Amino acid sequence: MNQDLPHITASSPITPIRLDLGDSFQFSCHRDIACFNKCCQSIDIQLTPYDVLRLTKRLGLNSREFLFRHTVPFEMDGHGVPGLKLRTQDETTQCGFLTEDGCGVYEDRPTACRYYALGLMAMRKKDSATDEDSYFVVKEDHCLGHLEPHTQTVSEYRQSQGVDVYDDLNREWRQIILKKRSCGPTVGKPSDRSLQLFFLASYDLDGFRDFINTPSFHEVYEISPDEQERLRQDDTALMRFGFQFLKQSLFGETIIPERPGALEKRLLRREERLRLHEQEAAR
Ligand code: SF4
Ligand code: SF4
Repeated sequence: MNQDLPHITASSPITPIRLDLGDSFQFSCHRDIACFNKCCQSIDIQLTPYDVLRLTKRLGLNSREFLFRHTVPFEMDGHGVPGLKLRTQDETTQCGFLTEDGCGVYEDRPTACRYYALGLMAMRKKDSATDEDSYFVVKEDHCLGHLEPHTQTVSEYRQSQGVDVYDDLNREWRQIILKKRSCGPTVGKPSDRSLQLFFLASYDLDGFRDFINTPSFHEVYEISPDEQERLRQDDTALMRFGFQFLKQSLFGETIIPERPGALEKRLLRREERLRLHEQEAAR
């Protein structure tokens, strides 16, 4: 089985009781609670592509500015697949978006913040093509919300936090990561180029938009003018197109139509350039 844990704080003691959507748990978080914002003072938050998209828009930045100012890169696995974490305030463990009044980006806060104090676990059973989500309660000593006399089902909690929308939009990306992990050595270590493309399509949407508008991209992929316009206008559609592109480039799935023979022609040209370069160097 594989696991995907989008948010566990560094010091989280997890209560490993598996919950399904209809299961209930006791928890409530509100402004008047004594621990208000304590959970934002020591963070370790992994960002998803849709988190980045929402925060980038919220702050009125382009994706590169957002990545530079508000994130820290890390490797998600032993093969160097790039992940992003939310940057903390200088020399502290406190979230960079925490203000005296609470979360400064509340309506656009990341998936992990919405889930807390629940954790999400996506598991794929051996020989199964699909993964199943299950949930668990994260109990940390500073969080008094578990003592509040309020009980709800996981489903009700997810809805109240707006997690459903985020999960729907990130599902395909999470499946790519799960598939990458479950393929293991059969797919092997991705090339530097495919890791760069993974970063571009996952997190740097403005860079990805530039990339799919290059002549060399159109030389290989066939995209109708209507679709091109849609991808120019609609960031969510562009993000989803990026997930399809990743499936195609990482796993060889054919989703985006390719022009016949285009890849081979490009490969031949690259080999020819390499040959000329070697001849030049040998003189
Ligand atoms: S109850 Fe828990 S989640 Fe809510 S503010 Fe307090 S520490 Fe954070
Ligand atoms: S984004 Fe908001 S909710 Fe999430 S850790 Fe930062 S301040 Fe807290």
